[in-house]
Amino acid sequence: MSDTMPAIFFGHGNPMNALARNEWTDAWARVGREIPRPTAILCISAHWFIPETAVTTLERPRTIHDFGGFPRELFAYRYPAPGAPVLARRVAQLLAPVEVIPDTDWGLDHGTWSVLCHVFPDADIPVVQLSIDETQPAEYHYGLARNLAELRDEGVLICGSGNLVHNLHAYAWGRHVPEPLDWAQRFETTVRELILKGEHEPLIDYELLGRDALLSAPTPEHFLPLVYILALQRDGEPVSFPVEGFDGGSISMLSVRIG
Ligand code: ZN
Repeated sequence: MSDTMPAIFFGHGNPMNALARNEWTDAWARVGREIPRPTAILCISAHWFIPETAVTTLERPRTIHDFGGFPRELFAYRYPAPGAPVLARRVAQLLAPVEVIPDTDWGLDHGTWSVLCHVFPDADIPVVQLSIDETQPAEYHYGLARNLAELRDEGVLICGSGNLVHNLHAYAWGRHVPEPLDWAQRFETTVRELILKGEHEPLIDYELLGRDALLSAPTPEHFLPLVYILALQRDGEPVSFPVEGFDGGSISMLSVRIG
């Protein structure tokens, strides 16, 4: 298994993490030091949630500042990693017959760069983003992602970037909240237990997990990147949680590493 790259779900949280140094960014940097150096990175970000499946194809993807209300210095930030048109074409081949749109308008959004800038601070590993088709249910995404598994044997690091608990209505902006909200903590614990047991079906059908799930994943886009990563787990492959914690009471920063 030593030639197989891990697949990792990152909880990205607040975009300001890009400029910060904290327990999470330190843990992201540690992940970058611990894993084999990838030949390229394929990232599925919560923030590219559109009515089709698309891949970024530019040689020089833009750094997208897909948010409002943050300081000017965050808008000035650039993550200048190259693109990987060859990987983009390979992804389209692997996902056929699903139509994968070659995209030159998007780039790297903050779900990708706010984490990768700590994992690979030199920005010298090519990055491709794959969109999440918002018209499709979680089960579809799980099946789609399984077709990407062989990329892991070709040195490609597949990343999902979202947050498995993501409720901005309950988020304590600018206030110090030491404890996660009870429903957020319970849902994260449930998800962790299911992941450790390798029970993916209830995670694909996470909306059936009750009120805690409805509060923790009120919209699907931050949870679905986790579904992509779970789909890449092979029989008997280990799973670990290299980053833990809650931000603002209602954002789980949990990372999930497969392999
Ligand atoms: Zn986000």
